[in-house]
Amino acid sequence: MNFHARDVKGPRLCNEALDEPIDESDRRSMTDQAAQKLAELFDILKIDHANDHNTRETPKRVAKMFVEEILAGRYTAPPRITEFENALAYDQLIVTGPIELRSMCAHHLMPIYGSAYVGILPSAEGKIIGLSKYDRIVEYFASRLQIQEELVKQIGQYIEDVTKPRGVAVRISAVHMCKTQRGVRASRRSRMVNTYYWGELAVRQDLKREFLDECIALDRAASD
Ligand SMILES: [Zn+2]
Repeated sequence: MNFHARDVKGPRLCNEALDEPIDESDRRSMTDQAAQKLAELFDILKIDHANDHNTRETPKRVAKMFVEEILAGRYTAPPRITEFENALAYDQLIVTGPIELRSMCAHHLMPIYGSAYVGILPSAEGKIIGLSKYDRIVEYFASRLQIQEELVKQIGQYIEDVTKPRGVAVRISAVHMCKTQRGVRASRRSRMVNTYYWGELAVRQDLKREFLDECIALDRAASD
């Protein structure tokens, strides 16, 4: 079966998931068609991929990388989340991180890499989720063409939807290779940091402070 993007209903923005995940055979067909287009791109760029031992398999390899890894969060279902009742009505701030962040910039198709931190202020009536699920949620939304301002918000809003907490904070600190490898060629130590706050975390300075202090402490612990 030939895969046509127009057959798929729903949003097409680069960092939105399709309405329905697409199955493996559609993804394979999408990969084959993308590989053909990448081969054409190589032709235009005068790369003799048919005879060049270094690039012979590259169009196929890159197409597969896009469908199965870089953009996987658009074509697959969100991670399965195991929710637990908040039986003891724990109501203090939980902070987890650093979570490995790997994404791709929507403007230049260059890697974005760094760390994410998630803060949750649970509600007595809400749910809590297994700690490793925050890593999965970050990975799911990062596996798209992204800009950091939207990525941080998508992660936060998803956690709100799933756990109905009193507050959420998501912080990302990342290197953008479109800034370090090209253009202004900034130092690889140059990062972008941004934070999304929601609920009580958006309005209470003491909670923001506590979240940021924990992020610093987690960073320090991770570099020991
Ligand atoms: Zn960029």
